[in-house]
Amino acid sequence: MNVQWVVSVSYGELILKGKNRRQFTKAALRHLHKALAGIPVQAQFEQFGKVFLAVDEADVERTVAAARRVFGLIYVTPSLQVPRDEAALREAAAALLSHRVATLREQDGSDSRIGDAGTSDGGTSRNAVMTGSPDAAHPVTFKVDVKRSDKSFAVPSPEFAARVGSWMLEDVPGLAVDVHAPDITLRVEIREDFFVSVDRYAGMGGLPAGSGGRGLLLLSGGIDSPAAGFALARRGLSLSAVHFHSYPFTSERAQDKARRLAAQMERTVGPMRLFMVNLTDIYTAIARHCSKRNTTVLSRRMMMRIADRIADQDHDDCLITGESLGQVASQTIQGISVVNEAARHPILRPFIATDKTAIIDIARDIGTFDISIEPFDDCCSIFAPEHPNTRPSLAEIERDEAKLDVEGLVAQALETLERVDIESP
Ligand code: ATP
Ligand code: MG
Repeated sequence: MNVQWVVSVSYGELILKGKNRRQFTKAALRHLHKALAGIPVQAQFEQFGKVFLAVDEADVERTVAAARRVFGLIYVTPSLQVPRDEAALREAAAALLSHRVATLREQDGSDSRIGDAGTSDGGTSRNAVMTGSPDAAHPVTFKVDVKRSDKSFAVPSPEFAARVGSWMLEDVPGLAVDVHAPDITLRVEIREDFFVSVDRYAGMGGLPAGSGGRGLLLLSGGIDSPAAGFALARRGLSLSAVHFHSYPFTSERAQDKARRLAAQMERTVGPMRLFMVNLTDIYTAIARHCSKRNTTVLSRRMMMRIADRIADQDHDDCLITGESLGQVASQTIQGISVVNEAARHPILRPFIATDKTAIIDIARDIGTFDISIEPFDDCCSIFAPEHPNTRPSLAEIERDEAKLDVEGLVAQALETLERVDIESP
């Protein structure tokens, strides 16, 4: 009987897209193919709405890893594809399960507990009975999950699960059933063929890259903005980024840091454009003419005006920042409101209600955290007032701003605009 390794991918919320569904799934597949570059895929096929990639056993792991980086896919499952023959299914399932039991026993021997063997959907949570007992005589627990996508298959799912379960109890030594918190979940999907698996991995989720328009990320050297860009890229935006520096007040290292952050981001969000703008003259003018306590709000408004112009040229639909309500003095609702008044494009702030710890988790996941915490001065911190105005009113800020040649300063700053190469890590 012909049994073949396949990796299946599931689309998640893309299936909610109604008439546009095809367009979204095609985009996700296009990105999947890009991510799979260099991996020989023997065949790709669809059965009952799920896409399968047939690969050599030796390529399963890297196929899974590549698929898990693609936006728009929620589950990535390596499985054995078995013809619709119960004896063949029994044999394949027993082989998979014995292998997994052996891996668990090895781990159990080495660290005195049953691990979850790398699954990420919680389907193989640790069994309390096993914890701390490296006793090979203890049973490993399992359950069988059957999904009958092909309703023409005569046996109902619960009955078929029981049947497969009893085969496994006969064929694989040292097993016991636990339907609530099993060490292993053996999944059997009934489609045109049988598909049997013991691992299911979480994918990136979200929507296919670029399916939702373009955003211009205001990329500082901090922790929040790279993570904010990622969060919206995951919702389908293609990104460009602008970094404001104040060379020579800030060192060249600050710009280099922005380039390395962008390079690290590209690994998850795909190709980005990076722009740099020198804000030194603007900061100097604000320092000379305006109230010190308004510096942050005034400079943020200038950033927005400049970003608006870049977004026009770059065909971006919105601006993106890493702001979070109340996180720092400038991120009050009053401060944010006054900044909004200076921008023509909508400003998306995906972390407005997110705690710093959760933002840090994302930054760690996408690998930007370690770069962000490098200690290079950012223009905001150099010019930041000691006692910032946390409740600015628009009238008050506009009065202060009237002392500046806003249009002239914006035009001057735009003359320093450069598109820079993103430095690979
Ligand atoms: P981050 O960690 O992203 O730097 P933060 O908590 O330090 O954020 P602020 O310094 O107040 O907050 O900046 C708020 C947002 O303004 C940033 O998330 C970023 O989007 C934008 N921003 C701030 N400084 C710059 C800069 N030099 N260049 C580009 N964007 C900036
Ligand atoms: Mg910052």
